[in-house]
Amino acid sequence: MHFLPDLATAPDTLASGVRSQFPVLAQRIHGAALAYLDNAATTQVPLPVLAAMRNFEVHDRANIHRGVHALSQRATDAFEQARSALKRFVGAGAGHELVFTSGTTEALNLVAHGLSAAAAGSAFLQPGDEIIVSGLEHHANLVPWQQAVRRSGAALRVLLPDAQGRLHPEDLVRLLTPRTRVFALTACANATGERPPFEALLALAAQAGALTVLDAAQAMAHAVPNLSALACDFMAFSGHKMHGPMGTGALVGRLAALERLAPLRYGGDMVDWVSYTDAGFAALPSRLEGGTPHVAGAVGMAAAAAFIDAVGRSGIDAHVAALRAHAAAGLAAIDDITVLSPWAAESAIVSFVARGVHPHDIGTLLDEQGIAVRTGHHCAQPLLDHLGLGPTTRASFALYNTHDEVERLVAGVARALEVLQ
Ligand code: PLP
Repeated sequence: MHFLPDLATAPDTLASGVRSQFPVLAQRIHGAALAYLDNAATTQVPLPVLAAMRNFEVHDRANIHRGVHALSQRATDAFEQARSALKRFVGAGAGHELVFTSGTTEALNLVAHGLSAAAAGSAFLQPGDEIIVSGLEHHANLVPWQQAVRRSGAALRVLLPDAQGRLHPEDLVRLLTPRTRVFALTACANATGERPPFEALLALAAQAGALTVLDAAQAMAHAVPNLSALACDFMAFSGHKMHGPMGTGALVGRLAALERLAPLRYGGDMVDWVSYTDAGFAALPSRLEGGTPHVAGAVGMAAAAAFIDAVGRSGIDAHVAALRAHAAAGLAAIDDITVLSPWAAESAIVSFVARGVHPHDIGTLLDEQGIAVRTGHHCAQPLLDHLGLGPTTRASFALYNTHDEVERLVAGVARALEVLQ
């Protein structure tokens, strides 16, 4: 039986075309075909990305920037070409720069720390200043700001969502003051799937004179923001959420904004000169990239961006949106299930709660059927507390997922509820 006949028979042409590039998907879990629906946590890596990383490690591996020998120059070229490719991928222009990090978490820490710590001169954030963070954020875009407030004496304000988890521009207008120095926001809430009107919110904050920070962790595998079209000073993302390697990521932003950041890591490769008592720092991006970076990881991230472009961004966006709509409608049709942000058409995440049933039990029963979802607070405890929800079950989609997998998810949840209620 199909839960939504029109959506259940929607074409999976895109998914079937790319699935062979992801060997990890072709396995059975507890006797059933794996349905990997945990892409908001980590996406899978296609063969061309693995090949690019292997090629670097087999042929070009050497430390970068410091060597005159051929291998070091090839490694440096590979690293800098990866930087340029990723800048193009996110629409960065001549006034932007990209700094490699270990992920979104490090990128956001670099911003929050960099604005509240003094490197040369005084810190950007001063006592009495205000930072506004949206109430939809992953802990990675909240906890670093809590620490920045402690370091600087600035105050933290939260742009709370309404009871349905939506952010409203008029609420931001009420919070903005002449002392607002920073506004930080997600492009998609990982716990609920809510896609806030980030373009308008960032523009309002920028007009008020604040530096703007976009956590784009959930917007790199599909619906990729175009940085040049946004009033955005800093944008953070992770390689492993865009079919690239784990432990990689980037902070991309306006040069003038990046110039304001005190480095997070001091040491080699980020200095211009050093004496026993002092040091002068290198120009961007090196100044913010102290130590040996994950060069193969940068190569892998660029290969992942190339893979996404080769498959086609608009096709991926349409496919993922159709999977999400199918899942949201199918789950909402089950008694006692509430789907969060059912209207979030551009999201790849469907998060839901079931009356009287713990998400962990649903997740365990789904796993027994080979269906991988995530359960819990999704590192966004304040948001779920604010919505009065507690933990949720979350399915999240990527280009290789199929409508058949969505049908299995919906049937699996219905069966789980029969067993558990
Ligand atoms: N921000 C959002 C919205 C996320 O979903 C995540 C991870 O789930 C992060 C930040 C942290 O990303 P990472 O663990 O790759 O640093």
